[in-house]
Amino acid sequence: MHELRELYQEVIIEHGSNPRHFYKLECPSCTGHGYNPLCGDQITLDLKLENDIITHMGFQGQGCAISIASASLMCESLTGKSIIDAQNAFELFHSVLTADAPADDRLGKLTVLTGVREFPARVKCATLAWHTLQNALE
Ligand code: ZN
Repeated sequence: MHELRELYQEVIIEHGSNPRHFYKLECPSCTGHGYNPLCGDQITLDLKLENDIITHMGFQGQGCAISIASASLMCESLTGKSIIDAQNAFELFHSVLTADAPADDRLGKLTVLTGVREFPARVKCATLAWHTLQNALE
């Protein structure tokens, strides 16, 4: 279990320093902005939608490794998904991080971020990208 935890941290550090989907989209369907004043994390998220499918996601911003890694992992896991799937993933992710719901297989690679819930001050870092997604979809 200890080794698993270290592995998860490696994934966070790797995504934090080499984020995927870290670019601006040319003609986004919508854009969201997110700011976490507790840590200073800032994210701008572009979405390209076709019907109800999120076909492209790109983000820019600056922040701690957790906020950047979370945005990177979110874009990887939601690209190609429907808006409803994205909303469901948000609710699941949010409940595991904030409401002590048990870790859930449906989280897939997002599971690496669930260790953050032991550090309440960092939960907002991990959920920032997801709140930015909500902002973009509104
Ligand atoms: Zn942060």
